[in-house]
Amino acid sequence: MALNKVECRRCGYKWVVSPDKKDARDLLCKSCRVKPARVVQKGEYRCEAWQGEVDSDLNPIDESGLVLPGVRVCGMKDCVNPKHIVVR
Ligand SMILES: [Zn+2]
Ligand SMILES: [Zn+2]
Repeated sequence: MALNKVECRRCGYKWVVSPDKKDARDLLCKSCRVKPARVVQKGEYRCEAWQGEVDSDLNPIDESGLVLPGVRVCGMKDCVNPKHIVVR
C-alpha cells in the first residue's frame, strides 16, 4: 500500500496522511497552521485573514519572508487559506 505523503505548501515539511484524504495536497503542516488567522466569509470563499505583518503591497509576510506566495483566487491579498492560493 502506497503511503500518501503530503508536503506543506509553506515550509516543505512532509508527512503522511491517510489515503482517503485526497484533498490534503494543498495543506499546511501543523506548525504553519498555528499562525494567527481569522476566518472571513468573502462571497463564496471562506478566507483566513493573515493577522501578522504585511509588506508595502499588503502581502502577508513573517520573519522568514513572504507567506504563501502565489495568486489568491479569492482576491483577498492577505488570505492564508492554502486552498485559495495558486502557485504558478
Ligand atoms: Zn509548514
Ligand atoms: Zn481566500
